[in-house]
Amino acid sequence: MRYLKNKIKKNNKGKLGIALVGLGGYAGGQLAPALQQTKHCYLAGIVTGTPSKIPLWKDKYNIPVENIYNYDNYDTIKDNPDIDIIYVVLPNSMHAEYTVRGFEAGKHVICEKPMALTVEECDKMIAASKKADKFLSIGYRLHFDPYHLDMIRMGTQKEYGAIKKIVSEFLQPSIKGEWRLDKKYSGGGPLMDLGIYCLQGVIYITGMEPVAVTAQTFPVSDKEKFTDIEETLDWQMEMPDGMIAECRTSYSGSANRIKAEAEKGWFELDPAFYYAGLKGTTADGKIIFHAPLSQQAKQMDDIALSIKNKKASIVPGEMGRRDVKIIEAIYKAMRTGERVVI
Ligand code: NAD
Repeated sequence: MRYLKNKIKKNNKGKLGIALVGLGGYAGGQLAPALQQTKHCYLAGIVTGTPSKIPLWKDKYNIPVENIYNYDNYDTIKDNPDIDIIYVVLPNSMHAEYTVRGFEAGKHVICEKPMALTVEECDKMIAASKKADKFLSIGYRLHFDPYHLDMIRMGTQKEYGAIKKIVSEFLQPSIKGEWRLDKKYSGGGPLMDLGIYCLQGVIYITGMEPVAVTAQTFPVSDKEKFTDIEETLDWQMEMPDGMIAECRTSYSGSANRIKAEAEKGWFELDPAFYYAGLKGTTADGKIIFHAPLSQQAKQMDDIALSIKNKKASIVPGEMGRRDVKIIEAIYKAMRTGERVVI
């Protein structure tokens, strides 16, 4: 085992070690494979509550036993110099606790979106980061995707003039029985999971934050499935210049797009929010094309580099908190039917 550990350290000289906490669909399907491509960080450890997952992960990714933790001995990760960064990939309700414990163990933390269930939880996470003097970043992968970087450039540099309207939709069916349908774990419905991408897109393409929101939900199609979360949500965000963004998210149907309508033309991504296969078009017939890349590898490398350079990442905890604050306002608007000022 010593040999294995030494080998990993040697092979990954100069790279920061990441421990994935929660070995579900996203950790196993996207993050672990992406960590095979990263230049500034590598998969050094895992934290799991399911012992049956260990042999596969250990063998596939050459993870030494001393870098494998469960939820009970998680805090002892503080004694492990191989682990520099904790990456929390658990159900939303567990983000705050495992992030705070990660900081208490003296590690940097990347936390998946949405950052937490409430602004209060976000504040605790940011306070823990400050107390530990370690960086907190949110897993907002699209900030590192070249298609979205094009949208940011076209929007913020007003290449088609001032944006007059943005329409964004992310609709995707959910599976019965998963934690996403249980408000205790998810904190809410598709807005927490999918709509957050529309919300983010509007903000980074305009370079502005909403000043007020309105929202409407609809009767659910399946009363057994959607007991305490919304199935479909429409919401509108008023931006400081008066521009209105119209957004929709749902756990039924299928749509995945963001379109900005500006004074001199429009530009859009459809699909917009997938891991790959995005497509961009503009009013003047341009088709945006970029060579395929791993958004997650780029995201984790960029965050690792910012940590090495002792700088906050471009997706800091404060950004996650901002979005949770807007989400809280959208849910309030949905419940009350009123325009909610942020
Ligand atoms: P998942 O259900 O596939 O995995 C969740 C993991 O948490 C599993 O390994 C499960 O065993 C573990 N877990 C521990 N305690 C649990 C409990 N009490 N109930 C349920 N699971 C428990 O979910 P996922 O799709 O991997 O999502 C995990 C997180 O990652 C979520 O916050 C989600 O929003 C986020 N995510 C982000 C992206 C992205 O593109 N950035 C994509 C997918 C998921």
